[in-house]
Amino acid sequence: EDVLGPPPDNEDVVNDFDIEEEVVEVENREENLLKISRRVKEYKVEILNPPREGKKLLVLDVDYTLFDHRSCAETGIELMRPYLHEFLTSAYEDYDIVIWSATNMKWIEAKMKELGVSTNANYKITFMLDSAAMITVHTPRRGLIDVKPLGVIWGKFSEFYSKKNTIMFDDIGRNFLMNPQNGLKIKPFMKAHLNRDKDKELLKLTQYLKEIAKLDNFLELNHKHWERVQVLSVTTFSNSCPKAPHNLCYFGPHCGSVINTHR
Ligand SMILES: [Mg+2]
Repeated sequence: EDVLGPPPDNEDVVNDFDIEEEVVEVENREENLLKISRRVKEYKVEILNPPREGKKLLVLDVDYTLFDHRSCAETGIELMRPYLHEFLTSAYEDYDIVIWSATNMKWIEAKMKELGVSTNANYKITFMLDSAAMITVHTPRRGLIDVKPLGVIWGKFSEFYSKKNTIMFDDIGRNFLMNPQNGLKIKPFMKAHLNRDKDKELLKLTQYLKEIAKLDNFLELNHKHWERVQVLSVTTFSNSCPKAPHNLCYFGPHCGSVINTHR
């Protein structure tokens, strides 16, 4: 009977369309893609070390991600996030490393020098991006916001980096708006003097990057659950789970039975 009933009236159809329009993803909007292609053309990247064939890409925010820029200290080292150099040394084995800060390049260069990142012998920075590589997008709920679109990097270095092999850490989630799939929201490192001995985020993320580096494609990962993936990966994890062929469950809560069985 229902199937043969009358079609929904006009009002329903119109409302439905409105909702559809509301959820059109910011990341696919033509105006935003145009802004990205303008950055690809116009933003000058200074290559510090050439991209390496077969490596994945790790893009890192600076403020509150790699160090606490708000606390006072005699030297930058005191404000550095614990395990920073160990983290970068390990990541460099599988990933090219790019720094992207919403500040200006002079400041980024000074900070990276102060922290000993640009001069460390155990890893190299591929290049650095500043606020001029960002774009402003309009969102229905929050108005205009500045974001870090990975499309700028993918457009400029398409032979090396793509959606499939890129991960970005930032303490501000909205920076991922144009590429939510590739962003990992890191807990901000603040109050360095209080938290210097406690913060283990980079240590734990070292392990996560190692685990996911085995994957050919990051598109199925949900970085929201990165801590859970790490827990699973260090326990004895069954090879028999068809959903986790790499000894690594990246389905998080969508894979309840696997987690319950193997934890
Ligand atoms: Mg930050």
